[in-house]
Amino acid sequence: MTEHSPNSWEARADANSFYGFTDLPTVHDRGTVVLTHGKGPYIYDVHGREYLDANSGLWNMVAGFDHPGLTAAAKAQYDRFPGYHAFFGRMTDQTVMLSERLIDVSPFDRGKVFYTNSGSEANDTLVKMLWFLARAEGQPQRRKILTRVNGYHGVTVVSASMTGKPYNGLFGLPLDGFIHLTCPHYWREGQPDETEAQFTARLAQELEDTIAREGADTIAAFVAEPVMGAGGVIPPSQGYFQAIAPILKRHGVPLVADEVICGFGRTGDVWGCQTYDFMPDAIISSKALTAGYFPMGAVILGPDLSDRLQAASEAVEEFPHGFTASGHPVGCAIALKAIDIILNEGLLDNVRALTPDFEAGLADLAQHSNIGEARSKGLMGALEAVSDEASKTPFPADLSISERIANTCTDHGLICRPLGQSIVLCPPFIMTPAQMDEMFGKLRKALTQVFKDVT
Ligand SMILES: *Cc1c(COP(=O)(O)O)cnc(C)c1O
Repeated sequence: MTEHSPNSWEARADANSFYGFTDLPTVHDRGTVVLTHGKGPYIYDVHGREYLDANSGLWNMVAGFDHPGLTAAAKAQYDRFPGYHAFFGRMTDQTVMLSERLIDVSPFDRGKVFYTNSGSEANDTLVKMLWFLARAEGQPQRRKILTRVNGYHGVTVVSASMTGKPYNGLFGLPLDGFIHLTCPHYWREGQPDETEAQFTARLAQELEDTIAREGADTIAAFVAEPVMGAGGVIPPSQGYFQAIAPILKRHGVPLVADEVICGFGRTGDVWGCQTYDFMPDAIISSKALTAGYFPMGAVILGPDLSDRLQAASEAVEEFPHGFTASGHPVGCAIALKAIDIILNEGLLDNVRALTPDFEAGLADLAQHSNIGEARSKGLMGALEAVSDEASKTPFPADLSISERIANTCTDHGLICRPLGQSIVLCPPFIMTPAQMDEMFGKLRKALTQVFKDVT
């Protein structure tokens, strides 16, 4: 344990701030990294140390930490109209323009957008919309939500209930009626002698059986990330969405794509549902939506759900839901600019250009006998550590293998994220090939060092 003097940034951070999702032994041992500013994909701490952030903050800072176009858009809108709500039949011009743009870039011919301050609130809002709709349509029993084990949908009471992570048990969650299906991770969940196609068919059958058991008319939606992010970067098994989408359609269960991470370029397309070629009934967006320069989430409803929600709201005169800062004009101005730089100023092109290097870098590190699987889509990837490659045996939990790797990376000036037994990489879309080499070089050093220490 390192002692930090009482007036150090580390001690002051510890004294008065409560950490979320933070490994407290690591913080006690190493001290908080207190940051002051960023430049491109690099961040700097109070001691002037530089770190290459291979996680784009939390998947969201896709344009890096000093994009002049984004800060200019924010400043201009703060000068013009620094805040207004979207209640009582009023909204700002920026909100109008962003909704037009979102529907235009969505896979939907038409639809409607509802704004929140975060991805969690967007998922919460979606569920409230579906519950409101079910009651208005004379089906008050239609309340259950299907998601998957390891799916991550947020931290509010409802979005945590959707999240398929064991830690939510510490809160006595999920709420009743939130059902978690098998994670579509063939490498981990596939049975011996089961082909990937058979694995996908088994998961489709599980969905079919679940709908039969619960009753189709009790299920409000199936919500899924195209690629699971915080579950450890898990692309779906082959043919997964093609197998489940028709089952949901046949039973009248909406398919919702939680695109909070995938949306706006991460997988190499605007939307993850385009990468995996399926048509959702609604999309949840956040994170890259503002390139992380403003807290904002959005529920984007396709034509069917938006028509039905409109009719249900008219029947009771309003949709009684909204946040004070929903559709905030500064957030909307920033999002308009973020969408522009991703789609029209080369960021999405750069994701596509860098993807082969990214895949090659991961594959190269996966040759190490303590890396069991390298998986990725576009610019999101993970390396899963194993103590034995053939049997896919994890390291003992008390070794905290991924924390050790991430901490060693931090010592080498690289930020990457430990997740279970995996190390996650999701570099910003502005990364250069030289910076990608730096990222893999530093990670290789850390992996070699840690695996040597523990094996
Ligand atoms: C981050 C995330 C959320 C939650 O967003 P917050 O802004 O942290 O509330 C929801 N869904 C997915 C897929 C996410 O990655």
